[in-house]
Amino acid sequence: MSLLTAWFSNKEIVEHSSRSILSEILKTMRESVIVVGRDTRILASNAAAYNAFGRRNGALEDKRLSEVVRDLTLHEAFRKALEERADSDIELELPGVEKRKYDVHIAPIEFDKTAGAIGIFYDITQIERLERVRQEFLSNVSHELRTPLTSILAFVETLEDGAINDTENNQRFLGVIRKNAQRMHHLIDDILELSSIESGGISLEPKNVNLHSLVEDVFTNLSAKTAGRKIKLKNEVGAVARVFADTARLEQMLTNLVDNAIKFNRETGNVTVAFERADEKDTISISDNGEGISGEHLQRIFERFYRTDRARSREIGGTGLGLAIVKHLARLHGGEVSVSSVLGKGSTFSIELPAAAE
Ligand code: ADP
Repeated sequence: MSLLTAWFSNKEIVEHSSRSILSEILKTMRESVIVVGRDTRILASNAAAYNAFGRRNGALEDKRLSEVVRDLTLHEAFRKALEERADSDIELELPGVEKRKYDVHIAPIEFDKTAGAIGIFYDITQIERLERVRQEFLSNVSHELRTPLTSILAFVETLEDGAINDTENNQRFLGVIRKNAQRMHHLIDDILELSSIESGGISLEPKNVNLHSLVEDVFTNLSAKTAGRKIKLKNEVGAVARVFADTARLEQMLTNLVDNAIKFNRETGNVTVAFERADEKDTISISDNGEGISGEHLQRIFERFYRTDRARSREIGGTGLGLAIVKHLARLHGGEVSVSSVLGKGSTFSIELPAAAE
């Protein structure tokens, strides 16, 4: 007899080991498991159940199910399992600061000749959130594309209906068509960019970058946008300041933020880029003394397509994706982007990066 067979043939060992295997399985499960007895008192639960329902209530064992989760449908399903020995599948929504949603399977079980019921709670909060984000994204994209497309079609029809021979206006109409087509182009570029960043499709090649000269390059590229509005671009980054980043991606972040600081500025306003190193962190700040952002919008502007004034952003060539791209790129660098702003006074966007090694 092999050692294993001998080992397994010992009934006591088998029982003991299968019990501990079961208990280990329960411990490592991501789903919450609650077992109740006839009187709906909890007889057993796993770590996931404790994390989900026990934090406020302490240990779950010996408590009544109704003390731990207050939900009529859930209680009805457990009653059905205990009294009618029937399975149920329900959706459970737990209110609170951090709302959670579960798919719950409830079934009758029997142990030591007593009837009980088991509930297995599968947390679908995240899945639902992702699904919502996906739907919102699709509907936003369609909407954003439809607006310039409608305008293009309308102007093409006008030209076809005779305006093509109207020498005073035909060039202007073509100009509007071009502007809208460019907007669609820009939008699709930004969507593709964002999707490749989000899906991990880009890899960074970080190195020590001279920030002062990079900011100079960004200013040069955007200088045409300040023309006529007398907006001053100020580079306050020290000549030797270095950050550890992917040059092209850092330039992209700075371009988006400086571009916004120009766009949402006022005549004769300033845009200042500065640098600070503290506590192993490098902070690049882009400040403007333009229109500012009110508190209600402030926490949402990094969301895709979120704009404080949709029509105006479109008019000045915005896609509403610039800040979402900056956020993702900053995170990809192990950093973060944040904003502080006073309505009517101006805004400061800060990119925080892990400090460059000396
Ligand atoms: P876009 O600039 O294409 O509209 P962004 O994602 O870059 O999209 O910015 C989102 C919104 O945040 C802008 O539409 C604007 O309402 C607001 N915003 C961004 N930067 C500034 C700024 N410096 N000052 C005021 N509002 C800003």
